[in-house]
Amino acid sequence: MARSRKPAVEGWFIGEEAGFRLLGTRCAACASVFFPREDTHCRNPGCPGGELAEVPLSPRGRVWSYTDSRYRPPSPYVSDPELPWDPCTLMAVELETERIVVLGQAVPGVAVADLAVGMEVEVVPGVLYEDTATTWLTWHWRPTEVTA
Ligand SMILES: [Zn+2]
Repeated sequence: MARSRKPAVEGWFIGEEAGFRLLGTRCAACASVFFPREDTHCRNPGCPGGELAEVPLSPRGRVWSYTDSRYRPPSPYVSDPELPWDPCTLMAVELETERIVVLGQAVPGVAVADLAVGMEVEVVPGVLYEDTATTWLTWHWRPTEVTA
């Protein structure tokens, strides 16, 4: 049976392949951009508060920091405790236009040794985990230049 593909978190990203974008919100009063999206009230302490509108975020950014996860994260992270833990690479990426830093996993196969601060990366759809009925989707960061 084919698994259905669903976002692991509703409303945080949209689109497929080249059209894939993270979704944030922007305050109409002060233009602050939030990711994860803020839908209740503007978090800028100097802002009187404005309408928060959904905006697609820059598809590219630059590596601000990175590391790898060598231990199994606790619940609610989903992983099979019967299987050995496979380390994954994590990146903090400063978005090109918004200049906010967004955390995420690197695409599979990218290791810490492949990365450098300032390297350009792009957001792509990725698989967070799969169960029998569903492929749960998230975002991954992928270097835009292929490293040898
Ligand atoms: Zn504001």
